[in-house]
Amino acid sequence: MAKYRLLRERILATGLVARTDLLVPPPASDSELLRAHSPDYVARASAGELTEREMRQIGFPWSPLLIERSRRTSGATLVGCRVALAEGVAVNLAGGTHHAFRDHGAGFCVFNDAAVAALAMLAEQRVRRMVIIDCDVHQGNGTAAILRDQPAIFTFSIHGAKNYPFHKEQSDLDIELADQTGDDEYLERLAWGVDHAIELSHAELAIYLGGADPYLDDRLGRLALTKQGLYQRDQLVFERLYSSGIPFVVTMAGGYARKIEDSVDIQFAMVELATKYTT
Ligand SMILES: [Zn+2]
Repeated sequence: MAKYRLLRERILATGLVARTDLLVPPPASDSELLRAHSPDYVARASAGELTEREMRQIGFPWSPLLIERSRRTSGATLVGCRVALAEGVAVNLAGGTHHAFRDHGAGFCVFNDAAVAALAMLAEQRVRRMVIIDCDVHQGNGTAAILRDQPAIFTFSIHGAKNYPFHKEQSDLDIELADQTGDDEYLERLAWGVDHAIELSHAELAIYLGGADPYLDDRLGRLALTKQGLYQRDQLVFERLYSSGIPFVVTMAGGYARKIEDSVDIQFAMVELATKYTT
């Protein structure tokens, strides 16, 4: 969790973003969460009534703050979508909680911010079609499952074949990578995937999950991308979205480098790059 605080502190210390441009997001409301999650799950998660087994699957102890944080994480991506439509780009300094399913959480994810935000944009009739580009090293299984029957939201995930989750869901487009895949192969396959996702989705807005965990020294990654390779990854995605006229929201997703500063370096570079795409 310290990664988030360190990232925020570095953004303020370097003056990348003025303090007044760093906003506290509103919590997602019940009705916003219920587009992606079941009423029973939202009610029990909010009231602290999930079973021990359900909490173990999430991986955090329950607390009112956990629920507050999870609601605001979804709220941030949702508001980020509105901001991106007006200004070209927005960044959620958390988010990317892609292992949360309709009726349960998992893998440090309580509510699925990308699904909540994308479904809100459709419900608010702000866009007709969206794309979710998930470059976290772990498959966006919850996102794929929640949005399986949503033809207006195209899900693309590029991830480690042998990594968590061991049972994969079917996204609209999945690219599976072997352990120790490095920069060149990754970028080549990503370029193909992003081009296809953009072409097939006809998206008017994108949500990007820029996990730092494909990094070579990540404890949970199993891939071998360098910091430079990860920067090129972000650049490739941003450039292609931008040149296709698609505004985008950037979310952080995972990052578990042996040295926490490495995860922060990778995500700071991504945020810095994203700020250049303000229209
Ligand atoms: Zn991950």
